[in-house]
Amino acid sequence: MHSRFVRVLLLVTGFSTPGCQEFPGTPPAGAPSSRHEFRQEHMGTEFRILVHDPSRERAAKAAGLAFERIEELDAIYSDYRSESELSRLSRSSGGGAAVKVSEDLWQILERAGEIARTTGGAFDITVGPAVLLWRQATYTRRLPEPRKLERARARIGHEKVRLDPDRREVLLEVRAMRLDLGAIAKGRACDEALAVLFREGIRSALVDGGGDLVLGEPPPGGEGWQVEIAGLEDSEDRERIESFLEELRPAPVGVATSGNASRSVEIDGKRYSHIVDPRTALGLTHQAQVTVIAPSGMDADALASAMSVLGPRDYEPVARRLATELDFLAVIFVEDGRIETSFLKPPAPNPKSP
Ligand code: AMP
Ligand code: MG
Repeated sequence: MHSRFVRVLLLVTGFSTPGCQEFPGTPPAGAPSSRHEFRQEHMGTEFRILVHDPSRERAAKAAGLAFERIEELDAIYSDYRSESELSRLSRSSGGGAAVKVSEDLWQILERAGEIARTTGGAFDITVGPAVLLWRQATYTRRLPEPRKLERARARIGHEKVRLDPDRREVLLEVRAMRLDLGAIAKGRACDEALAVLFREGIRSALVDGGGDLVLGEPPPGGEGWQVEIAGLEDSEDRERIESFLEELRPAPVGVATSGNASRSVEIDGKRYSHIVDPRTALGLTHQAQVTVIAPSGMDADALASAMSVLGPRDYEPVARRLATELDFLAVIFVEDGRIETSFLKPPAPNPKSP
């Protein structure tokens, strides 16, 4: 019998926020506890690293290095920090000169560009000017002025980001562009943190960037990671997700959730999300929660945000396109108690399982 990699749990009690949460497992009876958990604040959220290793000391050292890597990435990717590499790049917009960027910034910009193209612009890191207007609206509780939205729209568009792979240079074509990696950076940070743990010899690990998860190899004991997806009260769907995940290879798996209603603002009786439709510069008014399971945290994070924009009625053709390039992909919408799951591509059977 092969061990389950991920077990999706029914939401029993306790968690009030929608999203994915790792559920603490119990070690098998009589076994020494090898489970160690570490937490640190980064990127405006709490990151958790969960590892299974006989040595607490080794686990703590590895987790420390992983947190350092997350911090290093935040210093590059943050749009809150005016001296981050990303902010400096945004300030170069409209100046006509291409800017050489670090490998870490290049990798995320390149993948963001690909995802923007495949999702028809539903995911677009140039939404920064609109995100800023909606961030202000959460304080003023007033809709952004139409002329400001119009100005923001003129600066948005992934085709305005020109990448030169040979020189690793980036040209932002229009003045006052503002790049925002808020929908993808946490996923990549989780991937990179897990890579550090792997390099330190720890393979059974989970990194949680505030609800965006990356899973390494499952814990010893055969139960697998227990991941809870809020709202999945329908047992039939839960079982379908479990059997979808059952055959996953023990390689990194990203699980990300978007559309958290708690990060939204109500104005004149209408709720606007912190996720913006790049085509209109407006905060989303549909509030479906969507979870994406994909081969990396970066893809899961970005695609969950993209699927939020597309919504449960329009996402499928885009998801089908994505499934052709990814090793596996699942999209799970939860909206007003209704669940819409798409297992667009099952993972290849695990060669190790009998
Ligand atoms: P997430 O919670 O992963 O869905 O990311 C949401 C964050 O990504 C927002 O707070 C914005 O900073 C940014 N964002 C909003 N809308 C988009 C979009 N359509 N494409 C890319 N990033 C976005
Ligand atoms: Mg995201």
